[in-house]
Parts: sequence; structure tokens; C-alpha cells
Amino acid sequence: MTHAAPAISVVIPIYNEAENLPDLVTRVGDALARTGKPFELICVDDGSRDASAHILADLAAHTPWLKPRFLIRNYGQTAALQAGFDVAQGEYIVTLDGDLQNDPDDIPALIETMDNSPEIDMISGWRKARQDAALSRKLPSMIANRLISKVTGVRLHDYGCALKVYRREIIERIQLYGELHRFIPTLAAEAGARILEVPVRHHPRTRGTSKYGIDRTFRVALDLLLIKFLMRYLHRPLHAFGGIGLWLLTPGVLSLAWLGALKLMGESIGGRPLLLVAVMLCLMGVQLIAIGVLGEVLIRVYHEPKGRQLYRVRATPRPHTPEAPTGAARHTGPAHG
Ligand code: UDP
Ligand code: MG
Repeated sequence: MTHAAPAISVVIPIYNEAENLPDLVTRVGDALARTGKPFELICVDDGSRDASAHILADLAAHTPWLKPRFLIRNYGQTAALQAGFDVAQGEYIVTLDGDLQNDPDDIPALIETMDNSPEIDMISGWRKARQDAALSRKLPSMIANRLISKVTGVRLHDYGCALKVYRREIIERIQLYGELHRFIPTLAAEAGARILEVPVRHHPRTRGTSKYGIDRTFRVALDLLLIKFLMRYLHRPLHAFGGIGLWLLTPGVLSLAWLGALKLMGESIGGRPLLLVAVMLCLMGVQLIAIGVLGEVLIRVYHEPKGRQLYRVRATPRPHTPEAPTGAARHTGPAHG
């Protein structure tokens, strides 16, 4: 079974998870064997400082379906995931965390759901009963989920759940960078994916430590801004910057005209605060419009190589499912505790 081309690729980013690795590999292997499909497990060591890389290499020596990749330094979870995606061969690509907070035993049911739902391109796990004790983790994540859902229009209860299943095309269509792995559902929806959110189990981390602190909250907020901009204005930056620019430039010019008229009528305008405000408005307005024009030039440069397209067409129409509009979550599947 393991010699056939894998139908399922499981990708797991690993950073200092030495204590979890042996169990992780065994449990993923057991769970995947139950699907009856050939699979591979790609563990990407993200420059771990502990024994993770050695343990991975040892395990791989006698586990034919385990394919380790070793990054030369710690790049972060997003890069580690992309490094896994880049070599994944399966038609289904499954991601989960390396700390066993996600339950590998959930994978077979998710795969079955994918098999039975041709209209779904991606399943996102929902940690309905989340097992992270600290409020300092739950609260920011609660706010983040609400905010991201609202701002991006891709409504999910749980953006932070690492356990996800994708059809291969989705992964091929999106390119991750920065720390955008949290926004894969948004990027996927942009790429036309239909997403199903399914409740999955979640366990407390029993070994190793979390790699993130509270500062993650701010980075997520900035990434959200970026995503929103990319979604709305990537292809028309002049509208974004030029729009604000015009709103500033117009009152600036009107004020200057008004002041000019006063001056002509013999009044002294040198000491009026409005003069300063008007000049500032004009300067800012002109600069923003110029930035918008630069953006337009950049977007042309971006589109010219490789013939990047504005749109994508499908080979066949999507199966008709009236209740699931693009990007919206539809809830079915087993509700685990
Ligand atoms: N991880 C990684 N590189 C990093 C940080 C984390 O590959 O720089 C991996 C980590 O080993 C784990 C997953 O990303 O498999 C999620 O990390 P963690 O469990 O620490 O995040 P949390 O569950 O606390 O949000
Ligand atoms: Mg974790």
C-alpha cells in the first residue's frame, strides 16, 4: 500500500516537538491506515533546537511513508507548511499541529466527508471544545475569529484550528508567505474554494511548550489588514489610495481657493490656521494619489511575468448546492465533544 503514489499527504510543521514526535507518527500512521488509502506523512522540521530532527530521521529510517524535510533554520509555521505543500503528492492534503492537540483519529472521518462531498474543496476543523486553559489565549482567539469572519466575509468559528483537509488544487492555487497560514481559508475562498467547517476534538498540550505568546495578537491584526487590502484592492490600488487622496485634496483645494479669494479682497491670511490645514490636505492628497498610481504600475509589473490571470475558469460547472455560497461555512459531520 505504501508503494503506490500517496492519495493523502499529511503535512505537519515541527518546531521543538521531540517529546511528541514518536507518538505523533504512530498515531497519524494508525489513523491513516484506517482510511484504506495510500498515504504519506511529511514532517517539516522548522529548524528545531531540540532533538526533533534526529528523532525524525531515525523514525523515517524504518517508516516508509514518513518523509521528513529539514529546514536550515527556524522560518516559522507558515514557511514550514509551504515546504510541506511543495512536496506533497496526495490528492488530499491534510494539515495538523505536531503537538497532538489535534487528534489524528479525526482524519478518517474528514477524508470520508471529502469523498462524499464533491462540492466541498476544503474542510476546516472547529475546536468546539477548545482545551487551552488560559483566558489569555481563548479571549484573543475569540475576538480574532469574530473579526476575521466579519472583515473577510469568510465566516468560520475557528480560524486557528490547524486540522484541515484540502483538495490538492486549492493548495496549488495559493501561495503562502509571512504568517498567512492562519488566513488559508480566506485565501482559499478567494481562490474559489467552498469550505466546510466540521467540529473536531482538541486536547490540551501535554508535552513541549507553545511557540507563541500574546504578541501574536498584534501580528494577526496587521495580517488581517493586509488580507483585507489584498482582497479588495490588490487589483485596483488607485481606488484605495486615490480615493482617500481625493477626499483630502478636495477640501484642501476648496479651502485654498477660499483663502485666495479673501487675500484678493485685501484680507491678511498669513496667520490663519486654515492655511496650514489646507496646504497639508493638498500635500497629503497629492501624495496618496501618487502612491495609488505607483501601485497601479506595480500591479502591471506583477501581472506581466508568468501571465498571471485576473480570473480563473473551471473545466466543469460546480455541483449545484444552493445552501453553500462560496466561502461560507456549512456545518455537517460528526460533532465530537
Ligand atoms: N511551529 C513551527 N515553527 C514555529 C512555531 C511553531 O513549525 O516557528 C509548529 C509547532 O511545532 C506546532 C505548530 O507549529 O506543530 C503549532 O505551534 P504551537 O502548538 O506552539 O501553537 P499553539 O497551538 O500554541 O497555537
Ligand atoms: Mg498547539
